[in-house]
Amino acid sequence: MPLYRDEAIVLRTHKLGEADRIITLLTRQHGRVRAVARGVRRTTSRFGSRLEPFMHVDLQLSDGRSLDHITQAETLTPFHAGIGGDYERYTAGTVMLETADRLVAEEREPSLQQFLLLVGGLRVLASGDRSPSQVLDSYLLRSMSVAGYAPSFDACARCGTLPTSAGPSPGASHRWFNPSLGGVLCATCRVPGSASPAAETLTVLGALLAGDWPVVEAAEPRHLREASGLVAAYLAWHLERGLRSLEYVER
Ligand SMILES: [Zn+2]
Repeated sequence: MPLYRDEAIVLRTHKLGEADRIITLLTRQHGRVRAVARGVRRTTSRFGSRLEPFMHVDLQLSDGRSLDHITQAETLTPFHAGIGGDYERYTAGTVMLETADRLVAEEREPSLQQFLLLVGGLRVLASGDRSPSQVLDSYLLRSMSVAGYAPSFDACARCGTLPTSAGPSPGASHRWFNPSLGGVLCATCRVPGSASPAAETLTVLGALLAGDWPVVEAAEPRHLREASGLVAAYLAWHLERGLRSLEYVER
């Protein structure tokens, strides 16, 4: 069987038979791959502990007929060490892994941008330098954008007009948000059932998408909370089934 090497994040694992596991990976070069790791549930396994969720690993795989087999695994970054012991980081990280698993739907479809986003997001999360909730929201908005569901937080998602900067509150002309229509709506395009977030919340959402951390960190908690709710609604709309793991994230 031909061998190949790749770098990957372990997204999830499940048991197979007596001692094996199927490992779902997001790889740098081969996109999402499911592979069998033989004997990893035995205590004598050489690399069982390297194939846990959140691990960033360098792998050697053999090309199988249905599933590939993992023949070697070396740890590149043990992200689980910085994530697993903290409830907030852990629940946020779990949503990130589940989202990557769902957004990279096709197996073996290279998805370098999604891989780099996930590695970058887990690195910041594990470092503890930023609020897990904000790292998560920023990751969700960016990964949905890469997947083709980029939300609009300035121009009207329906007609494309930009908010008028005149008046007492800049951006106030685009006060409605609708996940199914792709983002904010102007007064003309708004539809019943749209949310009407604060203008500051839309600014936070734009900053989370752009990775503009000074703006995010200066925001008030109520606007960050409102932004999180809208990100969750947007994600739920664009994934066919909701994410189970998102229910555990405390906001
Ligand atoms: Zn419009």
